Parts: sequence; structure tokens; C-alpha cells
Amino acid sequence: MTTVGDPVALAERAGRDLEDATAEEILAWAARTFGARFCVTSSFADTVLVHLASRIVPGVDVVFLDTGLHFSETLAVRDTVAATMPVRVRSIRPALTVAQQDERHGPRLYARDPDLCCDLRKVRPLEETFAGYDAWAAGLRRDESPSRAGTRVVHYEHSRRKVKINPIARWTQAQVDAYTAKWRLPVNPLLHAGYASIGCAPCTRAVAPGEDPRAGRWAMFDKSECGLHDRL
Ligand code: SF4
Repeated sequence: MTTVGDPVALAERAGRDLEDATAEEILAWAARTFGARFCVTSSFADTVLVHLASRIVPGVDVVFLDTGLHFSETLAVRDTVAATMPVRVRSIRPALTVAQQDERHGPRLYARDPDLCCDLRKVRPLEETFAGYDAWAAGLRRDESPSRAGTRVVHYEHSRRKVKINPIARWTQAQVDAYTAKWRLPVNPLLHAGYASIGCAPCTRAVAPGEDPRAGRWAMFDKSECGLHDRL
């Protein structure tokens, strides 16, 4: 692990220097720079980023937000990864169980106030977990959706004071598919049932061919992100 110094300048420089680097090179830089203060996050829709990290940073922490409202298929992929890849999967639970949340805020909060539900079940647990890290990686890609077209490879999140790394930001869906096939990776079966982007079960629906993949998330609301990724 190198001395980080000014993380803002570091992230700016890395964002420029690593723009054309491979995902493996980006992950190696993160491991060298942040050591155990670096983690990977995954929603277990696919397992490409986690597998890349397992090869380049074996033993790395993989943070999964276990909201209590995931599809059983997603949990099965998580369990397969934990059993077969050399990573440490950390399933992070919210302070309130779903039943406790129902009691305090009323049932089906996701259908009435998804921002509050995401805040309680995703954003706050993640912020608490992030106290143990200086940098984190996510599997965002520019070709996933128009709203993610500007995804940077490395940038500094001032609001969280973390360096955010998107090692496969430049990858296309074809590259993801080729990597998945090459390494025979576990894939969430819902991806083959039209669920192009997979989150909690109550807030995810299948999309039609050609539709924006993220149109299936919070389809009843003007909302396309849960608050984890759209930070500056
Ligand atoms: Fe709640 Fe839906 Fe957000 Fe999951 S995705 S935390 S169910 S609002």
C-alpha cells in the first residue's frame, strides 16, 4: 500500500492516467494504493467485477447490501460466489428488519416512498460500512444506460470522502458476456428473463427488448438510482 496523500488529487490523476487502462490494471492500482482499505461492491446481477477482483486482489472484501427484499436468485448467486471465489463476501443488513420497518413506517414503504426505503435499507448501511474503507469499486458501465454514460473510471466522492473506482466503466455488454462465458461465471438467471438491471424484487421488473435497461427499476416512480452511485 502506498501513502495516499491528497486523495482528491490522487483520484483526479488516476482518473486521467487510467482512462485507457484495463480493468485488471485499474484493480491492481486500487489494491496497491489502498490495500485493505479498498472494497468491491456487488448487487450480484452478474459476477464479472467480483471475479476480476478475485483474480487481481484475492481475499478482497465484497460488500453486498442485503436489504431483505432481494430475489432468491440474487441470494443464490451471492452464495455461489462466496463458496467458489477467493473473496470475503460481506452481507450488510439494515438496522431494521423488513417487519420492523413495516411497523415503524407502514407496510410497503417502497411503494410509497422509495427514496426513504432506499435510504434506510441501502444508503445508510453502506455509509456505515464505508467507514472502514478509503476507496470502493462498483461495476457501473457507460453503455448500461444514458444516465450512466458519463461514468468515470476513477473519481473522488466529496460527499463521502471516498475514492470511487469503476474498473469496467468502458466495457460493453458484449465484453461482459464474453468474459462471463470465458470464465463460466455464475449469472443471475433473471438476466435471461428480461431483467436487464436487478435490484430488490418489489422495485424491479423485466424490460422489453431495446428499452433502457434501467427503466425496469422503480418503474412507477421518477427514480432510476438508489442513491449509492450518483454522488459527487
Ligand atoms: Fe426499498 Fe425498493 Fe430501494 Fe429496495 S430498491 S431498498 S425495496 S425502495
